[in-house]
Amino acid sequence: MQVLERPPELEHVPEPEPIGERAPFRVDNPFWMRALLLVFVVAPLFALGYAIWQLWQREVFWIDIALLVGFYTLAQIGVTVGYHRYLTHRGFVAPTWLKFTLLVLGSMAIEGPALTWASTHLEHHAKSDREGDPHSPLDGFIHAHVGWIIDGFYHDSNKYGHWLEKDRMVMFVTRTFPIWVSLGFIIPYMVDGWRGVLWGGVVRMLLVQHVTWSVNSICHTFGSRPFQTGDQSTNNWIVALLAGGEGWHNNHHAFQRSAFHGLYWWQPDSSGWIIRGLEMLGIIRDVQRVTPEQMAKRMARDTAPA
Ligand SMILES: [Zn+2]
Ligand SMILES: [Zn+2]
Repeated sequence: MQVLERPPELEHVPEPEPIGERAPFRVDNPFWMRALLLVFVVAPLFALGYAIWQLWQREVFWIDIALLVGFYTLAQIGVTVGYHRYLTHRGFVAPTWLKFTLLVLGSMAIEGPALTWASTHLEHHAKSDREGDPHSPLDGFIHAHVGWIIDGFYHDSNKYGHWLEKDRMVMFVTRTFPIWVSLGFIIPYMVDGWRGVLWGGVVRMLLVQHVTWSVNSICHTFGSRPFQTGDQSTNNWIVALLAGGEGWHNNHHAFQRSAFHGLYWWQPDSSGWIIRGLEMLGIIRDVQRVTPEQMAKRMARDTAPA
């Protein structure tokens, strides 16, 4: 199996320019499609309401909470360590078995297949908060959170992440996406029936999705901007805690390939801790990190008077 561990450089990640004039996001989906996607986003909220009512009635058991926490953790690791830091930004080199595991876990988060997710995210970095950004809050906060999916953003992997199309494993996991999504419901069902599906499947899916989407909405709106990245990206510690360190999003826009988004000890980054653990065990290699020299250079540039 051909595995592209070292795809070509990301020639489309330039130093961002000032945001300036920008055309608003174009709505492409027909009405019926938007209505369908809206149901997909709103229905889990009712399931969450039912789940909370069940909790109130003490109809929830430890096994359900364990399913929720377990599947939440696995799906989130799949997205943050797998889809984002490994696949999209090539923050480290992984053996085949780990690559497959991470891509499967990422698929279980139900945020789209691996190719779609990575390509969309590369386009976000290439156009961050400028015209063509898939999910900029400059088109509206709700748009950045979830509206962009409902309105119809379509990834262009020919342009963004074309090297991923040549990666047979990425394409295999992308084409078999429904299988991995289904597993995230079938396993909880086998463990605790429909109650397992509610907590380990639906509620878990809702939480993982909204936490990830918060990186796009909250972390381009609220928080601090220690680095001048030419976009609206921010560091937000609440999102960082919930999203496995992804809330240090201004850091990430400043140093896109770094496998670590928390750049100081006081910036908790659980995905980074997992990556460090895998590195210490000798499972992954070539872990990308910001050197003290790079940091000093960047700080000098970004704090210098304009
Ligand atoms: Zn990124
Ligand atoms: Zn961003």
